[in-house]
Amino acid sequence: MSRAQATLFDGARLHKDDAVELTIQSLIAHAYAHDHWGLAWSGGKDSTAILTLLVHLIDTGKIRRPKTLTAFYADTRQELPPLAIAALRIMDQIRARGIAVQVVTAPLDKRFLVYILGRGVPPPNNNTLRWCMRQIKVDPMTAAIEQQLAAINGTFLMITGVRMGESAARDQRIALSCGKDGGECGQGWYQQVLPNAKGIRGRIATLAPLLHWRVCHVWEWLMFDAHAAGWATADIADAYGGDEAEEINARTGCVGCPLAQKEKALESILKAPKWGYLAPLQGLKPLYRELREPKHRLKKTGLNADGSLARAKNRQRMGPLTFEARLMGLDRVLGIQAACNVEAARLDRPRIDLLNAEEEARIRELIAAGTWPNGWEGDEPTGDVPLDMIYGDGSVQPLLVR
Ligand code: SF4
Repeated sequence: MSRAQATLFDGARLHKDDAVELTIQSLIAHAYAHDHWGLAWSGGKDSTAILTLLVHLIDTGKIRRPKTLTAFYADTRQELPPLAIAALRIMDQIRARGIAVQVVTAPLDKRFLVYILGRGVPPPNNNTLRWCMRQIKVDPMTAAIEQQLAAINGTFLMITGVRMGESAARDQRIALSCGKDGGECGQGWYQQVLPNAKGIRGRIATLAPLLHWRVCHVWEWLMFDAHAAGWATADIADAYGGDEAEEINARTGCVGCPLAQKEKALESILKAPKWGYLAPLQGLKPLYRELREPKHRLKKTGLNADGSLARAKNRQRMGPLTFEARLMGLDRVLGIQAACNVEAARLDRPRIDLLNAEEEARIRELIAAGTWPNGWEGDEPTGDVPLDMIYGDGSVQPLLVR
């Protein structure tokens, strides 16, 4: 009878120091083949752990410094404030060591709030229009790496903080994850989608040197070892539940993420008195849900302009946000931001920056220009207007009451 092949993880559970040792071996075995390394950094716990560990290992001579190392910080502009603030501090520490940091942001018109409130595309949800991760994370990262590749010869290694824990690492599974507890939105995509992206294919390899780490290893590293080595990692725990971070194991991503069932990370932050002034951010998630309601959106009638039957997929399809809904949303987001920042000034705490003046101006400009997403004219009825039902064979069931 055949027996499953023995693995590094058989027997006793890994101690954190052993996990670090395996990470070093993994870097020596796979990363040394590449002169140029990049690191996809979301500011969350896993990618910050690998970033600070990698730089620490270079600092202490445990691994060789590559010809170039660039930390690509994925800034969605919707980051949880404690993570965004910690990331800014860590960026300074990295740059002080002569390591490049590139802040990767989507082009103005593609940013989360500009796309929703300016162009009128409804907030994403789990069933439809899950456009956000690709648009505000993966595509900008792909463009940044493409640019980097153009400036170097040879292959490029992208290091990610993808982490699946021992049992999953044993099975060699990597989730293309945006929704797992404890994960960072987009990390799985960086690992699996980036290497095959157009313009990059064949020139980039990826490596996940923390794949085998358990969540307790990450916390031990961030809160004790990295902190003791001078890294500004202690505040990161606040986004995951403070002292109970390991148990809560919250998933992080954009504040108010419409795809997350619960906003565990924000709830955790607000439990800490020093972050209490961010309570108005709890208004974002309900706003995104409200904006998806039929009364705020246009709807296809099911007929073309000449009265012929529209294509099946277009019949009575719900679509973009009305201008009134966009202005209402803009007003609410600005109100939430202002409420946080008034308190920030009073308490001498860091301000938040969800929507800056350039983004607000662009949203107003797009609305003033009468911008609709492709395929929409703006003369369609809103989704709460009752319409005759049109079936696939073209038959029409008129409304019983007009
Ligand atoms: S965290 Fe949520 S809103 Fe942000 S990119 Fe991921 S799925 Fe989209």
